[in-house]
Amino acid sequence: MSAPGRPMRQAGVPVPYITPWTGETVIRAPLTVRHGRLAYEDEGPYDRHDDVLWVRVHYARGIGQPKWPRVHAFRQRQAVITELCMICGHPAHQRGGRLLYVLAARDGRPIEEGETTAVPPVHPACARQAVRLCPHLRTGWAAALVTGAPSWGVAGIRYSPDTLQPLPGPDPERPEGMVRVACTDDAGLRWVLAAREIVELVGVEPVTDLDALARARVAR
Ligand SMILES: [Zn+2]
Repeated sequence: MSAPGRPMRQAGVPVPYITPWTGETVIRAPLTVRHGRLAYEDEGPYDRHDDVLWVRVHYARGIGQPKWPRVHAFRQRQAVITELCMICGHPAHQRGGRLLYVLAARDGRPIEEGETTAVPPVHPACARQAVRLCPHLRTGWAAALVTGAPSWGVAGIRYSPDTLQPLPGPDPERPEGMVRVACTDDAGLRWVLAAREIVELVGVEPVTDLDALARARVAR
């Protein structure tokens, strides 16, 4: 497995660290019930994180074409938990140990204290590129420096304990959509196949000028 490295580019455009490539497909595997919870029939030691079953996905970063705007479940979890930049994959800590987050915000709403997100942190310079190039950020974004991002839970597909079939998500427009399950919801975690790690943003200080933040980092 390759370590986080330099940003990859496709046709001159940086491809975020968490973007999957066509060489990275989700691996469907038969499910079963074991110890009163969802499990893989051939479950191995890397299929669970914090006791939650995770989707299996190939790891072949840079092979094929980027699958915009999808997200690679393993690299998303890795970036969120170990606080890597979602664009370049390097450690994202800023001066003073804080982390920068940039989230889509079409309505201009600032990031709030305690907000939950599946988006990993980002460097100021990488964020400047992202707000220019990412379609979902070009329509509006909000940024904040935070002092911490503890785990809140996961997002994934819920399965029926009776049929072991996926259950519809909360959005009738996208019935295959993921549900969010808090890490305090033991019953919910038993029947979810996780695909995103979700954190809670604490010590939030809104940022409106990414250029100034990037310049300050370069100048220090
Ligand atoms: Zn970066």
